[in-house]
Amino acid sequence: MSKSLTEQLKQEVEKRRTFAIISHPDAGKTTLTEKLLLFGGAIRLAGTVKARKASKHATSDWMEIEKQRGISVTSSVMQFDYNGHRINILDTPGHQDFSEDTYRTLTAADSAVMLIDVAKGVEAQTIKLFQVCAKRGIPIFTFINKLDREGRSPFELLEELEQVLGIRSVPMNWPIGMGRGLCGVYDRMNNQVELFQGDDHSNIQVQKVEDYRDPHIREMAGEFLHDQLCEELELLDVAGDEFDYEKVKRGELTPVFFGSAINNFGLQTFLENFLKLAPSPAPRQSTSGEIDPTNEKFSGYVFKIQANMNPAHRDRIAFLRICSGKFQRGMSVRHVRAGKDIKLAQPQQFLAQDRDIVDEAFPGDIIGLFDPGIFRIGDSLSQGSEIVFDELPTFSPEIFARVTVKNALKHKQYQKGVDQLTEEGTIQVFHNAGVFDETILGVVGQLQFEVFEHRMKAEYGVDVQLQRLGFQFARWVVGSQIDPTKFRINSQLVKDKKDNFVALFENEYAMRTAMEKMPDVKFLETAP
Ligand code: GDP
Repeated sequence: MSKSLTEQLKQEVEKRRTFAIISHPDAGKTTLTEKLLLFGGAIRLAGTVKARKASKHATSDWMEIEKQRGISVTSSVMQFDYNGHRINILDTPGHQDFSEDTYRTLTAADSAVMLIDVAKGVEAQTIKLFQVCAKRGIPIFTFINKLDREGRSPFELLEELEQVLGIRSVPMNWPIGMGRGLCGVYDRMNNQVELFQGDDHSNIQVQKVEDYRDPHIREMAGEFLHDQLCEELELLDVAGDEFDYEKVKRGELTPVFFGSAINNFGLQTFLENFLKLAPSPAPRQSTSGEIDPTNEKFSGYVFKIQANMNPAHRDRIAFLRICSGKFQRGMSVRHVRAGKDIKLAQPQQFLAQDRDIVDEAFPGDIIGLFDPGIFRIGDSLSQGSEIVFDELPTFSPEIFARVTVKNALKHKQYQKGVDQLTEEGTIQVFHNAGVFDETILGVVGQLQFEVFEHRMKAEYGVDVQLQRLGFQFARWVVGSQIDPTKFRINSQLVKDKKDNFVALFENEYAMRTAMEKMPDVKFLETAP
């Protein structure tokens, strides 16, 4: 007899882990991702990991920007199996010019791995991405990378996690030596040492021990390193946080792993512990209450839209995170916002640059849907009753420009392009509420302006001119006491596409002054 659907869903959900790696450029995300994929033998890749660094995939006009800059414009999804688990890694662009897409992709993850360079500690982009994860309260696992290089003291790094990010930490393993003197790591949870031998540390030995005081470690690591290890771990035992799984699940405590991605150092321990501790797909909030992943009715939401992955077509791909039920190719689902049923006939995962058709998928999985222009970011799809998932947050842009069309006759195409790129979430559009209509674009990363200019020309035949403005902050202003005259110095009051008031500020001082002048008005970082 075949398993009931509920039974199957329970099993499939239980074995899934969907996570994103968050880090600052150069911390080693590409390296870590590749090594993890090698553990399982990747079964499906949405754009190869190396795609952003190799140029052979960058064939479309638009990808030209990626090629020139050697970076990834959009994030992708990778899937692999390991020890009975099915793992989805949501890739997020690591370059300085990351976009709102990066933030939105984090909403589709059930946990995050925060990758930190042992020499650099917590960096700017890590902070931003961490904050988005922390707001959602998802578990965050920390991997401190490049242990084969001289870095900062582990205690100093843990202290920094708390000071800068406000999260407490619990080291799962501890380095024995560092840099040239790196000898191995001590696994605190499983009481074993992992030793790295050979010039390139390629020979990895794992040995069970009694505890960190075990004389075996002394024999292997030498007196000096063993004394140091004992001293540090005694201190941790006394002064460090205890492992508390409930706190980990709420994102209040981050398990910390030390290792070296490039040397495969500590990676297996990391992966195995991570798979044990990371959550499987959780219930999702919707307007009709919490939707459990084992709910038999299929549901999901679009968190990202990517244009022109295949340069031969002008189509788009909508990335859908499955939240409940079982996806089957060819099934009919309700496109709730559009109020009509659609057939999911050509769902895709991507193996390198060839599209690979998916027949079945489960909660936690991401599928790419062929999109002839019917989807918007945040759209819900569901089977049976109409489920609407909570709206995706709109993130506050940080870079602004005034846009004008060079040829006024092209206004219609211009409008169409702006609408479409807004739907895809590439840009946010604001209008001046004043006498003449001024359009201001807001983005999270400078690259989005280049993408905008390029695509307006390539896809809509419109030459636009962008003039950078000096604003650095946008806040949605809500309240009955909004006084437009108070936004004149180093600031400007505009409206977003839903006619909400948004204040743009040139600096923090201007923002604080406005807040002080209007104590009854709320200044929000995300759209109300
Ligand atoms: P990304 O920008 O975060 O994707 O970083 P990459 O994976 O491209 O790595 C940035 C640089 O750090 C590359 O030169 C890597 O070879 C190097 N790297 C990555 N992991 C390690 C490591 O464990 N040790 C050392 N020494 N270098 C590493």
